[in-house]
Amino acid sequence: MKSTESFDVVIVGAGPAGLKCAEILGGSDLTVLIVEKNFDIGPKVCAGGLTGKDIEYLKLPEELIEFKYNKINLHVNDVCSIIKSSEYFAYTIDRESLGKWQLEKLKRFDNVEIRKSARVSSIEKEYITINDKKISYKFLVGADGSSSVVRNFLNMKSRKMDIAIQYIIPTDRFRDFEVFFDSKLFSSWYSWIFPHQNYVSIGCGCNPDILSSKELMGNFNKWIGSKNIDISNGRYEAFMINYDYQGHQFGNVFLVGDAGGFASGFTGEGIYQAVITGEEVAKNILNPEYKSHKINELLKTKRRHNRLMNFLIRCGKSRTFFFYLGILLLKIPYLKKKALEVLA
Ligand SMILES: Cc1cc2nc3c(=O)[nH]c(=O)nc-3n(C[C@H](O)[C@H](O)[C@H](O)COP(=O)(O)OP(=O)(O)OC[C@H]3O[C@@H](n4cnc5c(N)ncnc54)[C@H](O)[C@@H]3O)c2cc1C
Repeated sequence: MKSTESFDVVIVGAGPAGLKCAEILGGSDLTVLIVEKNFDIGPKVCAGGLTGKDIEYLKLPEELIEFKYNKINLHVNDVCSIIKSSEYFAYTIDRESLGKWQLEKLKRFDNVEIRKSARVSSIEKEYITINDKKISYKFLVGADGSSSVVRNFLNMKSRKMDIAIQYIIPTDRFRDFEVFFDSKLFSSWYSWIFPHQNYVSIGCGCNPDILSSKELMGNFNKWIGSKNIDISNGRYEAFMINYDYQGHQFGNVFLVGDAGGFASGFTGEGIYQAVITGEEVAKNILNPEYKSHKINELLKTKRRHNRLMNFLIRCGKSRTFFFYLGILLLKIPYLKKKALEVLA
């Protein structure tokens, strides 16, 4: 073993959660190390879809937004309903650009060090190990996504995981933001078409306890065929989304973003949750008295999503009826406003 380095805070993972956490700790009198297993910071299996509240909170510069929408096409089986608003409420961003933008913000802080190609292989009570080298910490933040080593170290199993799969296809054929409900193919979940400047993300998700990944893949291919989508130039990607929240502070160890199970099991949305929890945990490290209302709000929304998702799962064969009812109710302005608030 080589000599041991020491930092006040070690953050494992440079996704949106870890980078935000480091940004908030930047400029403090704590020494901060953020370690990322990949050389490139930013790329992640993700459709890059955001809602209005995400954009407002993230304060993303205009050039980072690829497309913005004040309407989305909601499909239930073969019926398409267009949900319009006077304001923009859906956006797409590129994950690599988001990562680069977040990383750039860290460069002004002398107390934050970023180490790339640095995979944490094991964790002990006082130190982490990277390439046989021990690095000791006073605070450890697990921002390492759905297969978190920090969560493993806490002996916390993830029992609620979605699997999400997508094709990234270099085409400008698709320009509408579209969501497709088809109970037979995707149960309570959905497939999507999210256009980006140079490509489109076409994907779907589901809980593997409801549909195995093999079944989901088969159904997805069936759906792609029925829409005449050419995937011959597409890149296939798949990843888990952890939505099993079981707490986020365990003494001097914290879990944020997907590592903490903050993503929505219903919509699969997790970027916003990652950034908020990264920020709130950093504030908590700076001031142990800090009480996070934002995390409580996130958890409330998560519970609402879980209730809706569980209701739809229980509906079984009548699920399609509720999907139709949903798009009908969304035609009523008051209910549309409420629904956009619930989902946001
Ligand atoms: C197909 C798909 C589509 C999605 N679409 C959307 C969407 O449209 N909108 C949305 O809001 N969310 C979406 N999500 C969810 C979103 O991608 C995640 O919720 C979000 O990336 C979570 O951010 P994070 O910072 O917690 O984790 P991540 O973004 O996963 O970042 C974790 C980082 O930790 C690093 N890491 C992992 N292990 C180690 C280790 N041992 N040592 C060092 N580093 C490590 C990883 O390389 C990674 O960079 C989607 C997910 C999938 C799978």
